[in-house]
Amino acid sequence: MSAFRVRLKFHDDLTFFLKSKTSSGIIDRNLGEKTSVKDVIESCGVPHPEVDLILVNSKPVDFSHPIVKDADIDLYPVQSQCLLFKENRLQVRSIKRFVADGHLGTLARTLRLLGFDVAYDRQAQDRQLLSVMEREDRALLTRDRRLLMHAIVRHGYCPRSQNADDQTIEVIRRFHLFDSCTPFSRCLRCNAPLERVIKADIIDKLEPLTKIYYSEFRRCTDCGQIYWAGSHFSKLQRRLEKIRARCS
Ligand SMILES: [Zn+2]
Repeated sequence: MSAFRVRLKFHDDLTFFLKSKTSSGIIDRNLGEKTSVKDVIESCGVPHPEVDLILVNSKPVDFSHPIVKDADIDLYPVQSQCLLFKENRLQVRSIKRFVADGHLGTLARTLRLLGFDVAYDRQAQDRQLLSVMEREDRALLTRDRRLLMHAIVRHGYCPRSQNADDQTIEVIRRFHLFDSCTPFSRCLRCNAPLERVIKADIIDKLEPLTKIYYSEFRRCTDCGQIYWAGSHFSKLQRRLEKIRARCS
């Protein structure tokens, strides 16, 4: 097979991943053998879970599509200006369960604050993250592009921002979580749901001032951690309100 040339055009914020920051989002590649479009895309630094629509010579294809001759390839992210080919989209939009890598602790905690189910272990190795992702059918949240490129990753997202509130908004937008927020319903320590408890049932576990000033409590259904609207609560509430306002 003689060498052939492909021109890839990365649209919208997929340019975030390109190694050489071309503002045009265009990359030319010379290929010497049949290559799947997934491998061509990832050789440019763009993980496959970020790509929602692939057009080869203006026709939609999936990741396994082989490239065997000269081609023009257009790539679009989930949040794209392009509204064509709705039935050929490659990514699932609405996902409510996540696993976050060890560097995204603040994001994991903020998503839990909003009530979302986020598996998180600061010490987790890549192998463990992938295993939890697969076993529990969760979307992988990581800024490690190599990890996101792993063949077994079906759903995932790389937060663009380094700021946890901005990352939270990105995740809410990417996975269409606007209407699913249930703040203060999940344990920040272990991710299990909280339940309402009667003060009398836990009063022996409370500090003297907490006993006096607070009457409503929630308890983690797994680790037993007790939560109440303490002094930090209004600050947290304001933060969540800001995040929600920016999402809408
Ligand atoms: Zn807990």
